Amino acid sequence: MKPIASLSLDLDNKWSYMKTHGDAGWEKFPSYLDTIVPRSLNFLKERDLIITFFIVGQDAALDENHEALAQVSGANHEIGNHSFNHEPWLHLYSKAELETEFEKTEEAIAKITNQTLVGFRGPGYSLSPTVLEVLAERNYEYDCSTLPTYIAPLARAYYFLKSPEMSDEEREKRKKLFGKFADGFQSLKPYRWQIGEKSLVEIPVTTLPVFKTPIHFSYLLYLATFSELAAKTYFKTALRFCVVNRLAPSLLLHPLDFLDGTDAAELKFFPAMNLAAEKKMELLSDFLESFSKHYALKNVREHAREVSLNEKLATRNVAHLQNQTPDPEIRRPQSEFRNL
Ligand SMILES: [Zn+2]
Repeated sequence: MKPIASLSLDLDNKWSYMKTHGDAGWEKFPSYLDTIVPRSLNFLKERDLIITFFIVGQDAALDENHEALAQVSGANHEIGNHSFNHEPWLHLYSKAELETEFEKTEEAIAKITNQTLVGFRGPGYSLSPTVLEVLAERNYEYDCSTLPTYIAPLARAYYFLKSPEMSDEEREKRKKLFGKFADGFQSLKPYRWQIGEKSLVEIPVTTLPVFKTPIHFSYLLYLATFSELAAKTYFKTALRFCVVNRLAPSLLLHPLDFLDGTDAAELKFFPAMNLAAEKKMELLSDFLESFSKHYALKNVREHAREVSLNEKLATRNVAHLQNQTPDPEIRRPQSEFRNL
């Protein structure tokens, strides 16, 4: 029997990309859900795939999106929480801000589906000990907000360690704390966060073992704009690495994997938007075929339940982690590459 792996789609809407990019007009919440939802649902249905859609609360709160979002749950896909405001600096929110964020999202999604939300992915892979604490208090079963890559943590470490106002003592302290925080984020295998009496399964977004470069589909499509063969070979090699390392991948899709510049002119500047949607789906189909040769593809909830039942998971104590100090310099829109 093939091992279980998982597939999810972060249903980032047009406005959330515009917001992150700092474009005017996002606050009217322009949407492409009427295009992307039926298109992706058809694609998945043709391939018998039931996955997880991480939905943004703000979209669920608007009546005009209800029909599209109800179709997702109607097609038996799992609905996960992708925050309310889709702000990649969610890891800097206070506990009270996070509680409001969760309440609003859960309430808005409850109007569309009676599924209980058990999974969370932070926007832009943002996560903090406080987010984990709130998830545990609200009885979530899993988190999948970590993307183990050397790029982002290194950039952040550099930022903290180079800060001129920091004393040597503070610098040392941060180095240690940062080290611990980053270690947690570097694991490719699922593990368990222990949060007081409760625990949560962490399903990291899989990156290439050892090298930790991304292997999810938006990245593969971006590579394909340079060379299709290179993208396909890279993915097949990555899968082989996963098989050898007994690592069941959890990979993700984005709406832009199904759209091109004619579907969303405002987002033409994003990587791979010059590739026709039909071409993207043809490539996706090819990637997914390779993926399902080795693994049984499920939604993230099933993946988390499976590893929780059948594997001895490493435990990380969230009490040892520290929240990052809120800093106005970080609290601003980040580059579009965080959404890749
Ligand atoms: Zn997102």
